[in-house]
Amino acid sequence: MDIKQHPTLSYKKNKLHLSGTCIHSITKELKTPFYLYNVEALERNFLNFSNCANDHNIFEPLVCFALKSNPNLNLLKSLKRLGAGADIVSGGELKQALKAKISPMKIVFSGVGKTEEEITLALNSHPQGIYSFNVESVEELEMIAKVSKKLNKVARVALRLNPQVNVKTHKHISTGGKSHKFGILKSDIEGILKNKKLLKNVLLVGLSIHIGSQLTCLKATEKALKELSNLALACDQDLEFLDVGGGLGVPYHPDEPLSSIDEYMSLVSTTIEKYYTSKKGSHQRQPRIVFEPGRYIVANTGVLVTSVIRTKSSEENKFIIVDGGMNDFVRSSLYGAYHHVLPLNKRSGVLKASHVVGPICETADSFASNRELPPIKTNDRICIGDVGAYGFSMSSIYNMREKIKEYVIDKEGVLISHK
Ligand SMILES: *Cc1c(COP(=O)(O)O)cnc(C)c1O
Repeated sequence: MDIKQHPTLSYKKNKLHLSGTCIHSITKELKTPFYLYNVEALERNFLNFSNCANDHNIFEPLVCFALKSNPNLNLLKSLKRLGAGADIVSGGELKQALKAKISPMKIVFSGVGKTEEEITLALNSHPQGIYSFNVESVEELEMIAKVSKKLNKVARVALRLNPQVNVKTHKHISTGGKSHKFGILKSDIEGILKNKKLLKNVLLVGLSIHIGSQLTCLKATEKALKELSNLALACDQDLEFLDVGGGLGVPYHPDEPLSSIDEYMSLVSTTIEKYYTSKKGSHQRQPRIVFEPGRYIVANTGVLVTSVIRTKSSEENKFIIVDGGMNDFVRSSLYGAYHHVLPLNKRSGVLKASHVVGPICETADSFASNRELPPIKTNDRICIGDVGAYGFSMSSIYNMREKIKEYVIDKEGVLISHK
């Protein structure tokens, strides 16, 4: 329950606030469960990120928000106004980014399974297509070249390096190891660079990496950036950009040891300078740096509000059964992730260890085990914290439950609903 240091959640007079707005007052008429986001927090996170890149003299930073973390249109429109681009992984996300009026020249397309249809859609979204297809295999490069030729276009491509680093995060969200499906091994990229036939009908504009998500330590990032720089140096052409991916972790648990945004930007800046820019010579054009953050921008902007259906005691086990389930928010079940569980109106009384569970017929349908909570009764509303990233976007209709609503508190503190 320790949220004293939390950037967006706080209690004032025992009422829970999200970035300064009382959650109970603004949502008491709404049917639970639902997601609630605050634009104020979103903008603060984005500006923190991009201002920090500027503070570290990163060259022409382009911050492409990873849509898969949260594709909510109202949030995307706010990010677009602040200059954000988009990192997309499907045709659906491309359409959503375009709907938010994000320029195709600020869109990078990642993912190992881009289809011919999706590649066509992306190439047709602008005379020059999109800013970059981040290519994940030789076979994909061949398909992009084929589609480009057919459409009489030249696709802008970056090769995604698999830097063969092992990351300290949950195994499901580590993406930079040799056995992972992502990226191209260094030797294969060198093969592509030598075989000019493979680069017909496409324009090689950059190199990219993305080694995983919820990264809490920067050791692997440093190694990957070094690999990326070395490879860039080996290209016998100037590159427009280096894309360093996303993955910066957030403190879901107050004791989580985390690198700061400042340490991260400093590492990106110094590593690329040391292993690439300084060796290239000053007459060369500096590459722009592209970032693909998702979680860092959006995780702490959202909560899941859910009501207690009933409590249940089973010998020493105390259950709090809520109307939100793992289909609405899956991170706790899928990754065993810690998330704050907080009553909207905090009652006084002794703390009791309880299991907070949903109604889904799966033992994994649990938001917290043995969590020390103040007294909680039927019909109380509680919220799961830090669910802005990989919350609604990973939700499903398992158990034939409808997708729940999302609400946004706009900059004026007014509640807006979408859909
Ligand atoms: C998921 C993903 C991201 C975003 O990761 P976060 O951990 O949310 O920052 C960025 N780039 C690619 C290629 C991704 O797959």
